[in-house]
Amino acid sequence: MGLIVQKYGGSSVADATCLFRVANRIKSYYDKGDSLVVVVSAQGDTTDDLLEKAAEINKNPSKREMDVLLSSGEQISMSLLAMALEKLGCPVISLTGWQAGISTSARHSNARIGSIQTDRILRELDQKRIVIVAGFQGIDRYDDITTLGRGGSDTSAVALAAALHADKCQIYTDVKGVYTADPRIVPDAAKLEDISYDEMLELSSLGANVLHNRSVEVGKKFNVKMEVLSSFVDEPGTEVKEVSKVEKMIVRGVARDNEVARISLKDVGDVPGKAFTVFSILAQKNINVDIILQSLGRDGKRDISFTVSESALDAALQVLEENRDVIGAAEVLHDSDVSKVSIVGAGMVSNPGVAANMFEALYNANINIKMISTSEIKVSVLVARNEGDAAVRAIHEKFNLSNI
Ligand code: ASP
Ligand code: MG
Repeated sequence: MGLIVQKYGGSSVADATCLFRVANRIKSYYDKGDSLVVVVSAQGDTTDDLLEKAAEINKNPSKREMDVLLSSGEQISMSLLAMALEKLGCPVISLTGWQAGISTSARHSNARIGSIQTDRILRELDQKRIVIVAGFQGIDRYDDITTLGRGGSDTSAVALAAALHADKCQIYTDVKGVYTADPRIVPDAAKLEDISYDEMLELSSLGANVLHNRSVEVGKKFNVKMEVLSSFVDEPGTEVKEVSKVEKMIVRGVARDNEVARISLKDVGDVPGKAFTVFSILAQKNINVDIILQSLGRDGKRDISFTVSESALDAALQVLEENRDVIGAAEVLHDSDVSKVSIVGAGMVSNPGVAANMFEALYNANINIKMISTSEIKVSVLVARNEGDAAVRAIHEKFNLSNI
């Protein structure tokens, strides 16, 4: 018996059949005596449909009104799930983000949770009710509805688990857990029993798309025991926690990210301050830079290349062109036909040769590497986009990840 926060994603609550499958699962926990707080996403493609509806009316609506609209998707789910539980005879109440006490920053469409007033939820739990909370939303200091960014319901759930000191936070989705690679790319990818917060953070930011990045940050900060599992089957998923069995496995997963583009500044002066100029100009525009590569100086000039997310490419090119004279670059080149492929694993630091093995796999597959970056727990390479999947498969095979 304990306090469990569960989160059900859009595909898990997509229709009546799904909703009753979820309601029965919740009931089985409730009947065992657990206290349950359940966070839901909008059904199926609801959020995308709402975005389309908005675009029919106004291509450039205010972010405030967009948040009012998008937050309604989760409210449909929460009430329908509550009705399903009522039908099964369970005492239940649904709450919006605001009713659940979730306060956020005022940054519409990408707000951060600041604090959670848990009184109302605790009162309902005391009454032995199952509490359903709309994910992805909160309220700011002006009493306006905010949303947490796409995929943000995961973060609602983990933040609630932290605030309520829950025994665990289960994230139910349509996959059975976290895999060594995207099973759509590598059909025999293996499900991981557990993974550390740091590894998961790398995998989610590298395009593994299982969990909202910030949910893992919050989980790590407050040491929330998280588990990713399927709502469609009854089997254990992948636990996300502080320590995993790193000694057994050096590389835990291969991720691929296509939301990336490369920019190169040609013939920048080989003098102090150039990198500072370039990257502070980008930082002022809030543009994140990832892999950075600088060529050797020749004839007093050198090239600086770096990657940005593909969605930031236009803004980056614009601000760089505007400042080309200040930077002193002969040309600003770009290439968005690239993929970033990365291996992740906390055991890598103390195992030399991991990067070499990865590069050998790419060499054997005749895949050219455009850029490389390494950190304590990951090695990333940039390759041509049409070779991204082949790169993932070659690396996955090389490290024998199907047989972990
Ligand atoms: N419904 C929102 C989205 O589609 C939030 C979520 O599902 O977590 O992004
Ligand atoms: Mg999601």
